[in-house]
Amino acid sequence: MPAGVVIVGAGQGGFQVAASLRTAGYEEPITLIGDEPGLPYQRPPLSKAFLAGAEPIGDADLRPENFYGQHRIEVITGERVAAIDSHMQRVTLSDSTQIPYSQLVLATGARNRLLAIPGAALDGVCYLRTRVEASQLRERMMVAQNIVIIGGGFIGLEVAAIATSLGKRVVVLEARERLMARVVAPAISEFYRVLHAERGIQFVFGAETEAILGVANSVSAVVLRDGTSYPADLVIGGVGVLPNSELAEAAGFEVGNGIVVDDHLRSSSPNVFALGDCAYYPNRFAGGAVRLESVQNAVDQANCVAANIAGKAHKYDAVPWFWTDQYQIKLQMAGLSIGYDQAVTRGDPASHKFSVLYFKQDRLIAIDSINRPGEHMAGRKLVGSGSTLRPEQGADLSVDLKGFVATT
Ligand SMILES: Cc1cc2nc3c(=O)[nH]c(=O)nc-3n(C[C@H](O)[C@H](O)[C@H](O)COP(=O)(O)OP(=O)(O)OC[C@H]3O[C@@H](n4cnc5c(N)ncnc54)[C@H](O)[C@@H]3O)c2cc1C
Repeated sequence: MPAGVVIVGAGQGGFQVAASLRTAGYEEPITLIGDEPGLPYQRPPLSKAFLAGAEPIGDADLRPENFYGQHRIEVITGERVAAIDSHMQRVTLSDSTQIPYSQLVLATGARNRLLAIPGAALDGVCYLRTRVEASQLRERMMVAQNIVIIGGGFIGLEVAAIATSLGKRVVVLEARERLMARVVAPAISEFYRVLHAERGIQFVFGAETEAILGVANSVSAVVLRDGTSYPADLVIGGVGVLPNSELAEAAGFEVGNGIVVDDHLRSSSPNVFALGDCAYYPNRFAGGAVRLESVQNAVDQANCVAANIAGKAHKYDAVPWFWTDQYQIKLQMAGLSIGYDQAVTRGDPASHKFSVLYFKQDRLIAIDSINRPGEHMAGRKLVGSGSTLRPEQGADLSVDLKGFVATT
């Protein structure tokens, strides 16, 4: 019997490879191995509907249990792949079981970057990546009064929005001078600062976090280098993630800011692919290799890997896109704004409906849309097709972006 496909990591991307392989008509065995307990699930609701108490945790499951049997996908959960032997083409689980593969897919995702300051190990310091962490955080949030969030990125702000909606006192400590600074233009950062501040959230920018203080082993405050102290009975670290690439590195595969893959998502080892949060891949929109952390990236790359395994040679070339929900506001981002030299605002931020278009040498490279789904969809097509839309046209509300897509 052929060894079939072994997928390491049963998250968004790992699940999707398995499902898409069957859709593509792949008939050999598929084994999906994940170290978390329970069925594969999606992460976005963890910092949104689930944390807000609007959705039970089980709703995050990507498919019900019977899906896997019906599609002949063997799911092994709560087990870690401890080693890969690429010469023998097999993986070894933490319980020493060995599983052979003819094709291996690494979809190991990323893990939270931990706070590296004194007091970080105190009880009451939390992170949010997994379903287990989300359940713990929700319980703690219900009883907390003073919540300090370290990091003003997407996760930190989504959690802040829910915490303040639950009536908690929330302080966000951000090391840079504005929110989500790594990925959005100042106009978007400022929009979100005002949005959150109006709902009672206190921001500290340029914050140099010195230590977390505790009483009886539980957090009591966060102290900055300038001596300012913020009382806290719950501290949430939202300072980014690190790719889970150690398994690949130990197996001798090439690793950079993640597992290095080519434009077909093949690693440096024959018959081994990598995708999603752990993959460092060439991206024409970035003008070089990147590692992206989004549902779109994991799902589209999984579809690409499945097509390649099923024998339909396929380069990965999707337009990156992402979304975040904070209160009733949806930010949708298309393209990558890295290296932009001009950003134009389309519409009035005060109306809570506007977009920012990013240009590099007069070429549209990205668009961020607030409550403008139509512009987001048009933006994806414009960015993907290499549009000739000029900055002044982008800023002009009388220019219909959708119409422009059709005529380019
Ligand atoms: C709280 C939260 C909210 C988010 N919200 C959004 C959003 O609104 N929009 C958006 O686009 N993206 C969002 N994301 C990002 C998105 O969920 C990720 O980009 C996506 O899950 C990446 O999929 P993946 O398969 O690469 O990794 P993951 O989904 O992280 O799956 C990887 C899995 O592999 C497991 N694993 C790792 N090593 C091993 C091993 N050796 N053996 C076995 N298993 C292993 C991991 O434990 C994990 O279960 C959010 C992420 C989080 C944490």
